[in-house]
Formats: sequence, C-alpha cells, structure tokens
Amino acid sequence: MRGAVLYAPGDVRLEQRPAPEIINPTDAIVKIAVSCVCGSDLWDYRGINPVTEPTPAGHEYCGVVVETGREVATVKPGQFVIGSFFASDGTCPNCQAGFQTSCVHREFVGGCQAEAVRVPLADGTLVATPEPPADELLPSLLALSDVMGTGWWAAVAAEVKPGMTVAVVGDGAVGLCAVLAAREFGAARIIAMSRHESRSKIALAFGATDIVTERGDEGVARIREMTGGIGVDAVLECVGTGESMRQALRSARPGGNVGFVGVPHGVEINGQELFFSHVGLRGGPAPVRRFLPDLIGRVWDGRIDPGQVFDLVLPLDEVAVAYRAMDERRAVKALLRP
Ligand SMILES: [Zn+2]
Ligand SMILES: [Zn+2]
Repeated sequence: MRGAVLYAPGDVRLEQRPAPEIINPTDAIVKIAVSCVCGSDLWDYRGINPVTEPTPAGHEYCGVVVETGREVATVKPGQFVIGSFFASDGTCPNCQAGFQTSCVHREFVGGCQAEAVRVPLADGTLVATPEPPADELLPSLLALSDVMGTGWWAAVAAEVKPGMTVAVVGDGAVGLCAVLAAREFGAARIIAMSRHESRSKIALAFGATDIVTERGDEGVARIREMTGGIGVDAVLECVGTGESMRQALRSARPGGNVGFVGVPHGVEINGQELFFSHVGLRGGPAPVRRFLPDLIGRVWDGRIDPGQVFDLVLPLDEVAVAYRAMDERRAVKALLRP
C-alpha cells in the first residue's frame, strides 16, 4: 500500500509500504477514508523533534474496519470508525477516569497518512458512526480524531461555563476548534488571538466575538483593557511556546483557568508568578476518546462543522506538498484523500 514516510526534516515521501496486518488479537485494520497533516507533525518536519530513522507519518484517521483480531468484540468489519492518536483499552483506572491518553496500555497510532492502518486495542479505541457517513461529513469526522477533540479538551480543562469570557491563544486548527468548543459550552464572549485574516474568518464563523491581533505582552495588555483590567475567566492555550503560555497565564483573571493543549516546547512556568496569580492550570494530551461519542453526535446532527479547518485538500500522493503548504503557513490544515 502507499503511505507517507518522514526521512529527515523537510523530507517526507510517499512510498510503497507493507500493508498493516493483525499483530495482536485486540487489533483492527482500518482502511483510511481520509487523513491529514497535523500541526504537531510539523515539529518533526521542522527538525524541532529529531528524526532518527525513517518514520511512517500521520496520526489522525477515520475509515472503515476491514479486519479484526479474534478478541475484538464490539468493533465489526464494515463499520465506519474514528479513533484517537493514542489507542487505549478503556478498562484501566486511567481510562475509567476519562484520561484515555494516559491509559496504562496506551499505544501511539502512527502511520495514518496511508491507505490503511493497524489500530491496537480496537474495542477501547474506536467509536463507530451510526451509519456509513455521507462524503461531505468526512472532514468534520476526521477533525474529531485530534484537533476538535483537543480544542474540546482545552475548554473542558479550563472549565468553560455558560456566560463566561474566554480567550483562545493560537489560530491553528486546534485554536479554531477551541473557539467552536467555547461556543458549544455557552461562552458569552470569545476572544480569538489571531493575526491571519483567513484564520480570523474561520474563528468568527466558529463563534468568536472579538479578534485580537496583538500577541505577547501587548496581547495581555489588550485582553486586560477589554476586561476592565481583570482578565478573562478562561484561557485556551493552543500553541505550546514559552510566549504563548506566558500570554495565557497572564490573560486569566485571579480564579480563572488556563487549559493548555499545545505540546510545550521551551515552556517554563514561574512558580512565584503562578502562586500569586490564583490561576488554575490543567492540560496535557487530549483524552479524545472520552469526547468521541458526544462529538460524533454533534457532527451527525449538523450542530458543529469542524471540518472547515481543512482549507487544502490533496491526494495522498501529494503529501509532500501538503506538509510544505502547512510549514509555510499557506494552509491551516491539509486533508489527504488516499
Ligand atoms: Zn494531531
Ligand atoms: Zn486504559
């Protein structure tokens, strides 16, 4: 089968790879309907995470189950399924507590920019749609595999409640989905920090009420100005840099919360400042699996349309073009059709 492999920074290639096979009796093989490139793939593509060997790329997927191992009980061939980038058993204490990305048996699901993928722990990991979806639902269902679940987690972690004022730091696909999540949670005012017109447009479509183009200390000053000098109730941090985290922590009011879902690179938190800020902080890799049944329902009912974050659609064969477009920020998020 064809699949993308990252060889070195800036060097992603489409190759013939061995088709995935059942290894463990709890595995399923999923034929990919659509896949995509993630902002976090760019950490590897840019060499910020070292690439030590050729690595099959991609971790966001949805598609049709074509084969299951003998111990798989609930997932059936023919079902259309979505899963998280971490496989989880659904039974350990961490899964039971709703933190499936910390499952004691978790396994990363890699190599999804391909025609098919092996998903471990299929019963705990995959969630089926009510019926085979219409083609136009595919982008929104794919978004649930990571970015929408991650934006949702940011809002859950920051405890967004109806009527709140929320700031979203980051206008990538996750930040835009966080805006959508804040709207679904009933936030009264949603301030999107964005300086790219095409991204601001999506933010507004997803429910942002204000756009702030300043960032860093100027961004903080602007947020304070807009909130009577106090700060917002909740900040959804969707970038993961030192600057974005500082900005998030300083934009929240005393007693407010920061939900941080951008994978931290070079983030240091000042203990004294955090202590005296009275700001609550929670984040981590999104337990996407917890939210899948709810989010599939919302997409199915047409209530949310997170697939709007895909502003570039390419055949899988052009995966290198997709990476380049995202690296050069010409695209928010690229969808790949095998
Ligand atoms: Zn991702
Ligand atoms: Zn578990």
